[in-house]
Amino acid sequence: MGLLDGKKAVIFGIANEKSIAWAIAQAFKREGAELAVTYANEMVAKRVIPLAESVGASLVLPCDVRDDAGIKQVFAEIGEAWGGIDILVHSIAFAGKEELKGSFLNTSREGFALALDISAYSLIALMKEAHPLMEGRGGSVMALTYYGGQKVFPNYNVMGVAKAALEMSVRYLAEAVGADGIRVNAISAGPLKTLASSGVGGFNQIAGHVAEKAPLRRNITQDEVAGAAVYLASSLSSGVSGEIHFVDSGYNIIGL
Ligand code: NAD
Repeated sequence: MGLLDGKKAVIFGIANEKSIAWAIAQAFKREGAELAVTYANEMVAKRVIPLAESVGASLVLPCDVRDDAGIKQVFAEIGEAWGGIDILVHSIAFAGKEELKGSFLNTSREGFALALDISAYSLIALMKEAHPLMEGRGGSVMALTYYGGQKVFPNYNVMGVAKAALEMSVRYLAEAVGADGIRVNAISAGPLKTLASSGVGGFNQIAGHVAEKAPLRRNITQDEVAGAAVYLASSLSSGVSGEIHFVDSGYNIIGL
């Protein structure tokens, strides 16, 4: 018997086999969930579609989270196929490469708007459409965040501001939908080598620092994030909402 038997989970944010969302999809499948997977665009489709098929996803749909009509269409298709959703995973972030290096002072108006739109507002946009399908089912929503939304890290820049907005959106959304039996949380993952993190200048330096200073003296794995995702998706966490749950080898507790 799996922890997610009979649950229907929609996963946003698989780009390739290194994606955190991919580890989550596999863990959810192992625990008995039925999966719907979306992908951002045709460029990632050729990687994502075979991965989705390999975990037996019932639905594989394109969705660029900047497009409200596209989001509506995705949830209309899921609603038609499933009638309801129990779990929603938001594992999406984007900022222009030029914003993720050098001084934060160089953040452009367009770069700020784009990063905040894709990395933070999109959670609200997805929740608006998911809400009617999740009401009254004891559902769970989770987003992926990083400690750079709470403390200053070199080069993380506008993405740190986006993560702060995302984390506060998690809390406001948790309040907004809690009465309908929906929980909203975030997992704050330690540094992991993925497509998204490869865009952040000096990533290796940050990962090296964590391995040296974190209580566990090592970096985490995608599978360890997926373990926390299973907990947040399952009834094991039925009393937990609005939380930012760290999976970072304990790094965030260290002062010096
Ligand atoms: P990833 O590159 O595999 O995932 C990012 C995803 O965002 C990709 O699937 C990409 O297609 C998607 N995306 C970007 N723009 C989009 C758009 N307009 N519409 C739809 N999807 C779009 O990298 P990842 O590291 O697995 O990132 C997943 C999440 O985890 C992100 O929120 C990231 O900030 C967060 N996170 C990553 C780390 C890390 O070190 N890798 C640490 C903490 C948090």
